[in-house]
Amino acid sequence: MADKQSEPPPPVKRYRREEKSSESEEDVDNYQPYVPVRERKKQQLMKLGRLGQVAAEVSAETKSSSDNDPDDETSQEDWGRRYNVSLLDQHSELKRIAEARALSAAERQAREEQHILESVAQSKALMGVAELAKGIQYEEPIKTSWKPPRCILELPPERHDRVRDQLMILVEGEDVPPPIKTFRHMKFPKGILRGLEEKGIKKPTPIQVQGIPAVLMGRDMIGIAFTGSGKTLVFTLPLLLVCLEQEIKMPFIRNEGPYGLIICPSRELAKQTHEIIQHFVKHLKMTGMPEIRSCLAIGGVAVSECMEVVQRGVHVMVATPGRLMDMLDKKMVRLNVCRYLCMDEADRMIDMGFEEDVRTIFSYFTGQRQTLLFSATMPRKIQNFARSALVKPVTVNVGRAGAASLNVRQELEPVKAEARTVHLLQCLQKTPPPVLVFAERKQDVDAIHEYLLLKGLDFANIQHVINYDMPEDIENYVHRIGRTGRAGGEGVATTLLGRAAESSVLKDLAHLLREAGQKVPSFLLDMIGEPDVPAPDGQGCSYCGGLGHRITECPKLEAVQNKQASNIGRRDYLANTAADY
Ligand code: AMP
Repeated sequence: MADKQSEPPPPVKRYRREEKSSESEEDVDNYQPYVPVRERKKQQLMKLGRLGQVAAEVSAETKSSSDNDPDDETSQEDWGRRYNVSLLDQHSELKRIAEARALSAAERQAREEQHILESVAQSKALMGVAELAKGIQYEEPIKTSWKPPRCILELPPERHDRVRDQLMILVEGEDVPPPIKTFRHMKFPKGILRGLEEKGIKKPTPIQVQGIPAVLMGRDMIGIAFTGSGKTLVFTLPLLLVCLEQEIKMPFIRNEGPYGLIICPSRELAKQTHEIIQHFVKHLKMTGMPEIRSCLAIGGVAVSECMEVVQRGVHVMVATPGRLMDMLDKKMVRLNVCRYLCMDEADRMIDMGFEEDVRTIFSYFTGQRQTLLFSATMPRKIQNFARSALVKPVTVNVGRAGAASLNVRQELEPVKAEARTVHLLQCLQKTPPPVLVFAERKQDVDAIHEYLLLKGLDFANIQHVINYDMPEDIENYVHRIGRTGRAGGEGVATTLLGRAAESSVLKDLAHLLREAGQKVPSFLLDMIGEPDVPAPDGQGCSYCGGLGHRITECPKLEAVQNKQASNIGRRDYLANTAADY
């Protein structure tokens, strides 16, 4: 111990000690056995940061004595007088300083988060390779022949704002078209109105009120709406209208088309969308309108089935990226007359690694198109990148992006891993079938499938979603539970929570429950080690939308970065191997 003390201290500490020692030298020179109370008070305040400020104020006031030593009698007097302030004043002063410091810490954090976000945001524009290469930039949205009815156009802008306020619709963009509250005023043909009636759809949902007029007018759009909000009709109905118009003007010939392309991240979603289109096509035909042909380009459906429609001339193609890429690559289908592109669940598509595929698909377009991006969650990383592909887009936001559907009652149950399968049987009793069960790992899915003989995901009217385990990120949780509680109906989501769940995602979950006005069970609070759900830190994570953490602690971002890092290593390895040959 004694040896240690005699060793020279490390550099940083040493610097501080030197300072101290020089002070003490001075102290020796001006040795004062007694430090007056005022002086001690001054020193104390100096420590708290206030004195420097006052010294500046004083020196500004007594500018004439600029060569004054701060230890000078006069200035000491001044400070002394100023410091004859009440404790209350000193307290508020100190509080103000502390707040200013806290603010700058918040600013620092915001800057750091912005920096992270920029570094992970998609830097390349979502444009086709050809467009990028030729530097083509479209300035104006596509023009359509559709206009809002006069009775709506004549209404003042205040009415439009009021409607948006009432329906909690947030809009962004230039010249946003007016919201329209009835399908009739949207000027849909009889066939579509009948199709809506048959589905029991009477009046538009908020995303439809604002989204359909925007799309009908030819505007590019980013639609952010919770799952089950009716967003599919926002991009299918206007597309059918414009296809009808084209067909009436000049019927589609063999191998012509598609005019509209809808890309979905999953087969299930593509199938559902295609079914909706066919429903309305049937009703249009029944009212004497020309036939609108649509095809489904997804894995699991024979290519020949799709090609049959393409060969007759196709108006609408609903596709998943993989199958579409394959067909484009083999020149089985072309996008030279395609003027309408919709990406549903666009953020999922990017998350699932389809970004490059989407870029390649864009390169097959030869003219300006109307582009629509839809998603339940649309973190800023996607919004920034999407904007670059859209022309004067209108952003329509209904509810917080990434918020859970309010129609789902979320129930959490603490269950040990080994007891889950048996527990699952009990959970299945909660609602009549069909029930959808999600699990993170493939072997669990296989085991459950075997156990329950599940037939797959394609059920309509799912009333109950069971999470056999908690997904790794909250976005996935929101997407999963959004499979139920659709179209204003009630749904149940049961999540079996074991010890394996990460505390970060559990915090996000607690926030999500509170946001949806649901009970946060005490065992969840125990698991996250909090007595109550803490107030959210600002808007939460700007990467995944979780409210329980910031981007600096985002588990999803970390996983993505780890994956990228391992890919970089792999690429280097491959490059080296290639160079060896
Ligand atoms: P989506 O969010 O597009 O997946 O729609 C979810 C469900 O809502 C579907 O079953 C639609 O048939 C239904 N739906 C869509 N629009 C409406 C509406 N305006 N009123 C009632 N139900 C609707």
